[in-house]
Amino acid sequence: MRIEINDIAKILRDNNDFYILTHKSPDGDTLGSAAALCLALQKMNKSAKILCSDEIPKKYGFLFEHVKNQNFEPGYIISVDVANTQLLGDNLCCYADRVDLCIDHHLMNQQFAKISYVESGFAATAEIIYEIINALGVNIDANIASCIYTGISTDTGCFRHSNATSHSYRVAADMIDRGANAFEINKIMFDTKSCAKLSLEKIALESLNFFCGNKGAMITLKNEEIMSSGACSSDFDGLSAIPRQIEGVLIGVFIKEEQTGIFKVSMRTDATIDASKICANFNGGGHRCAAGCTICGDLSDVKNRIISQIERYLRDVEG
Ligand code: 5GP
Ligand code: MN
Repeated sequence: MRIEINDIAKILRDNNDFYILTHKSPDGDTLGSAAALCLALQKMNKSAKILCSDEIPKKYGFLFEHVKNQNFEPGYIISVDVANTQLLGDNLCCYADRVDLCIDHHLMNQQFAKISYVESGFAATAEIIYEIINALGVNIDANIASCIYTGISTDTGCFRHSNATSHSYRVAADMIDRGANAFEINKIMFDTKSCAKLSLEKIALESLNFFCGNKGAMITLKNEEIMSSGACSSDFDGLSAIPRQIEGVLIGVFIKEEQTGIFKVSMRTDATIDASKICANFNGGGHRCAAGCTICGDLSDVKNRIISQIERYLRDVEG
């Protein structure tokens, strides 16, 4: 039986001392969702805190300005925007078997929690958090509204990706009515670049190569190149979109060497191609048009393996 939003609200009312877990390499949706939920629970006079395996990039700092720092042992553990336990990261994997409630929008969510609420029709987990906070009857003030707006705006690429639905727009509009400063948030998220980010983009563009008769394009960043750029984690935002932005390209791939010989692959595809299926060949997953996986080996081997899976997919699809 599918659990309803009102059941989630009841569970949150009936429990205390919430740990809210976000995914590693945190983005605006996992952090905005966690901050909005944490603020709402604290408004209900409950103890709540947010945990992330990785350091939180500076540009997301405003989300936490009004979150109270509280220290307590966990009574009820929630994950937001986390599709599987690997995404909890090294510092939160100790909670992998202890998650009580998973709130997520990934189609391939692995249902690792005692209770899962997964709405894959929503562009952002923040859209689910909006529904939950409304069901709780907590007033969405300007701070909560900014967090929810950030989640939706970042996961839809500022409302440009095909995942943005009328629901995304309606919730975002309501958040603006409640005081979210959309202009300022979007400026921080989409219109501001560090010098290190520009330097990463320059290096990545030099690696650009095409495959499958120019239907595919790929950029790569090696460990030593990343080190020399002085980049921090948020400087990588948007890089994975670049190859797919080239006219005529249906499949864009960004390969980033995370540690020597360990490569994080980000795939972005046209709506006609299911990136999550291609990445599933490497134990990865994600959404139809945005998916990822991790592959070990040397760079040229990793590139060849990805290209041959893409060739195979195109052969199967195009018969
Ligand atoms: P990104 O390329 O931005 O890291 O990820 C794009 C989408 O694919 C996200 O929704 C993310 O959750 C998913 N994803 C990325 N890497 C993996 C992976 O290794 N396994 C799974 N299951 N999903 C992934
Ligand atoms: Mn998300």
